[in-house]
Amino acid sequence: DYTPSSGNSKPEKIVILGSGWAALNALRKCAAPSKEIVVVSPRPHFLYTPLLASSSVGTITLRSATEPLRALVERAAGRATSATFVRADARDIDVEGKRVLATTDSRGMQLELSYDKLIVAVGSQPNTFGIPGVAEHGMFMKEAEDSTRLHSRLLSNLEKAAALSVEGDKYAKEIDRLLTVFVVGGGPTGVELSAELADFAHSDVAKIYGADISERIKIVLVEVMPRLLGPFDASLAEVARDHLVSKGVEVRTGTAVTHVEARDVTCQPSLPRGATPEQKKEAEANSQTEEMGCLVWAAGIGARPLVKKLAQKLGQSDMRGLKVDEDLRVLGTDGVYAIGDCALSGFPPTAQVAAQQGKHVGRAIRDGSDSKFVYHHAGSLCCLGSSNGIAQMVVPGGSGANNVWDLLGAPAVGKDGEQRSVTGLPAFALWRSLYFTKLLSTSSKMSLGGDWINAHIWGRDIQEPV
Ligand code: FAD
Ligand code: NAD
Repeated sequence: DYTPSSGNSKPEKIVILGSGWAALNALRKCAAPSKEIVVVSPRPHFLYTPLLASSSVGTITLRSATEPLRALVERAAGRATSATFVRADARDIDVEGKRVLATTDSRGMQLELSYDKLIVAVGSQPNTFGIPGVAEHGMFMKEAEDSTRLHSRLLSNLEKAAALSVEGDKYAKEIDRLLTVFVVGGGPTGVELSAELADFAHSDVAKIYGADISERIKIVLVEVMPRLLGPFDASLAEVARDHLVSKGVEVRTGTAVTHVEARDVTCQPSLPRGATPEQKKEAEANSQTEEMGCLVWAAGIGARPLVKKLAQKLGQSDMRGLKVDEDLRVLGTDGVYAIGDCALSGFPPTAQVAAQQGKHVGRAIRDGSDSKFVYHHAGSLCCLGSSNGIAQMVVPGGSGANNVWDLLGAPAVGKDGEQRSVTGLPAFALWRSLYFTKLLSTSSKMSLGGDWINAHIWGRDIQEPV
């Protein structure tokens, strides 16, 4: 039997499912001489999600926001018995037999991988809430290819609109449709994307396509709740809203998207919880259908099929994720951990949580001793495009602490005023410096620095992906 301290025992086989924030941090920490590690994921790269919105309008390239997984696994291999990457999609987990069934995309060939310890870190997927037409016609902002698709659609619609405009007003309605972008969901993803789109429209589109086109671009941000940015303090959400409105974004709170078609979207006033049939009828009567050229669905996340399947097999009633104990072990299993967005751990689905959970479980496996996961929240940041942002930072020592935040004039916010809020240029600088320093490799840092300089001097990338 494997014991962590015995030097000549059989290596422990660790299988990690996923190649995101949680998986990568677990990999880095669990790599030790007595471990045989296999990372399984259909995605051959790590995606630095905070940069995704800006890549969709060409502010940065995806080269800066992704890291090849093989290089990261290779680094870990130097510290372990072995570490390998298997590009495959895990389809089923047999917790009794301690094996994972996966398929490659090469004609769906089956792979069977046995484990001593399994880390499930498969993240989440966009949640359409079953709203008709979203899956078929919506675009998303979750993976690298979503960003490429959106960039391509935006540029292609701009070209079509510019071509039609040679006929003067003849095709005015179609030009307006092509230049209307709906962003659904006023969480951090929708807000950051709307700000990037507005910057793109005002600077690069105006310069390259002319004011006639840029001024006709309409960006509509739809949020079902009464305010934007639920996780942030209301005062900061208000700052973000004001900033978006000042950039020409039409912000519609208290509005729900109920239907999406290829060329139009239907919205109606939000319903209160437990709405009566009369209230439903009234909202429907007030629904409005508008033409659009592109709709990005950023209305939240849900569990992946693998996670739902395992939760169901384990008899868990909540299918939103895998229920874990305080050590992040999946309830009702032996040697299985769930971390990041796919775990129901009581923490929000953020990269910050996923990374800390990955490190925690990685260390526990390396040292052979489980312990309670304790989350240290550093704060929340939201980029509002060029030179603007909002930040809600946790201050060591509490809001009364006399420190740099006082010098910055950052007001106290949060439940007990235990956090400080920063807005405008200082928040933008904080966002950029923090996310720059946290990039995984020097090569990504060089690439990102180059992208930012390029965008600043010569403008964003307006080359339609080929
Ligand atoms: P992911 O990072 O999504 O990784 C999941 C991995 O599992 C992927 O590699 C995927 O390919 C793989 N996988 C999927 N299915 C399978 C399968 N069947 N078998 C094997 N592997 C599988 N959070 C912050 O804290 N700060 C931010 O600024 C921030 N910005 C964001 C911006 C955007 C646009 C988005 C979408 C999210 C942002 N988040 C941010 C949230 C953060 O990215 C997620 O909480 C985080 O990615 C969760 O990490 P994870 O490892 O659980 O999942
Ligand atoms: P989210 O769940 O935070 O926000 C989705 C929003 O869409 C919600 O406000 C919801 O009320 C709204 N919505 C749902 N259905 C709707 C409908 N039919 N019509 C209109 N609006 C609808 O999702 P997200 O913004 O993608 O964020 C996901 C996770 O990633 C969160 O934990 C978030 O904190 C994190 N994230 C963080 C950052 C950052 O820190 N800067 C950036 C992006 C994402």
